[in-house]
Amino acid sequence: MPGTFTYTFDTPSFKGDVTVNTGLFIGGEWVDPVEGELIDVYNPATGEVITKVAGGSKADVDRAVEAAKQAFKTKWGLKTAGRDRGRALGRLADLIEKNADMFTALESLNTGKVFGNAKYVDIGGTIACLRYYAGWADKIHGKTIEANETKFAYTRHEPYGVVGQIIPWNFPLSMASWKIGPALATGNAVILKPSEITPLTALKLAEFITEVGFPPGSFNIVNGYGSTVGQAIAEHANIDKVAFTGSTLTGRKILKAAAETNLKDVTLELGGKSPTIIFDDANIEQAVKWATNGIFFNMGQVCSAGSRIFVQEAVYDQVLAAFTATAKALAEKAGDPFSPATQHGPQVSKVQFDRVLGYVESGKEQGARLVVGGERLGDKGYFVHPTIFADVSHEMKIVKEEIFGPVGVIIKFKTEEEAIELANNTVYGLAAHIFTENSSRAIRVAHAVEAGSISVNCANAIENGVPFGGYKQSGIGRELGEYAIDTYTQVKAVQINIGIKL
Ligand code: NAD
Repeated sequence: MPGTFTYTFDTPSFKGDVTVNTGLFIGGEWVDPVEGELIDVYNPATGEVITKVAGGSKADVDRAVEAAKQAFKTKWGLKTAGRDRGRALGRLADLIEKNADMFTALESLNTGKVFGNAKYVDIGGTIACLRYYAGWADKIHGKTIEANETKFAYTRHEPYGVVGQIIPWNFPLSMASWKIGPALATGNAVILKPSEITPLTALKLAEFITEVGFPPGSFNIVNGYGSTVGQAIAEHANIDKVAFTGSTLTGRKILKAAAETNLKDVTLELGGKSPTIIFDDANIEQAVKWATNGIFFNMGQVCSAGSRIFVQEAVYDQVLAAFTATAKALAEKAGDPFSPATQHGPQVSKVQFDRVLGYVESGKEQGARLVVGGERLGDKGYFVHPTIFADVSHEMKIVKEEIFGPVGVIIKFKTEEEAIELANNTVYGLAAHIFTENSSRAIRVAHAVEAGSISVNCANAIENGVPFGGYKQSGIGRELGEYAIDTYTQVKAVQINIGIKL
């Protein structure tokens, strides 16, 4: 029998017992994996194991695909009216809202996120995203096309059928909502694979699924490692679409697996090395507040993080000093994610912690100037001091590669043209953050930068109605907004002869 585990929270932000199912959620039931495997789940603030959850295998993906296919054919998909799909999504959002502190506590425990930030951004964002897509569910329609008087032509926007969704650990529940919101609104049956590092909030979410009105099999969770469960989803011949958020390296594998099997539709949200550009005509005080948040928020574990910070020469010294002061102030407020005084938590895992500090070493070895940070904070958990490097060159790994930690490089520029050229000198193209009070310049630079998501006089701007996604090696397709609805439907064209005689 699949197990449960209960965690007793006794923190300043949340108190109480929370029980989570640790099995797989397939066909509306909690089940054990066909081939048992247990995965340790950690608290990154202490390095201790919280619990073990079941990890599935290819055989479990097969079971989930069968359940999803059955549900789609018999009771889900277009067999359920859009208004009812929307109502179920809306109720799910209501239940998360009712239990927002509990979801936040689980997310903070498993990721090390600062409780207040997680409540607003992760859990609040999840609720808003599900509500947004609840509103779309009964507004999905095709077009009639006036070809000529002898023909009636129209299009239908139909769901794909069975959709596999593979998500990362940096915003576990919120990334799940970006995926399941549009997929379920459009009537697809979902197989979700959370990150093996952060499965707890998705497992908790599954407990509410049947209660809010999703039929068994319409939403399934198969936990497990990427190389087994993730790969099995990407390769599966009866999965019609796969949506993935994670690293560019894994995205490449998924695209290859899809190409070599059933040519399933693929959406990819991948990594980035996004530029922040601060012009000397910006409101510097505001620019620094936004831009430091743009690199240090969520301990730098944000795909759109502004990790290459380009600063115009007249304000370079001022901005560098302000970044340094903010990094030091944040380090002083590092600690227990549940304490209201905390502003900076740990990296999500030992692997990430080592990876980030490895990049710091490479920066030093390659001759960059370490301005602030670059070291561990405390002696337990995976805390890293917010870090800034200056005097860097383009060949350095810390300038070229995604670090996915609280490490920024600050680079001086002279002209607008130079800033654009430097910003575009990357294989990535996820986001860019531009600071200037000159609106013509803001628009000019926004259009010239090769990236899918531009923030002007702010950073990491996210809005449910606005598409999010990458140029170049940062992705294929878009999430959020109406654009995501398009990626979860396929267009069928119907032409009816009403007068052509042969
Ligand atoms: P990752 O690629 O290692 O893992 C992401 C997911 O893919 C996990 O669930 C993992 O188990 C699974 N996976 C791993 N190998 C797989 C395989 N061979 N086949 C199928 N699935 C596999 O990434 P991560 O370390 O979890 O997340 C960090 C990365 O995600 C960063 O590069 C970051 O930029 C990116 N990210 C991008 C966005 C975006 O919207 N563009 C958002 C969040 C994170």
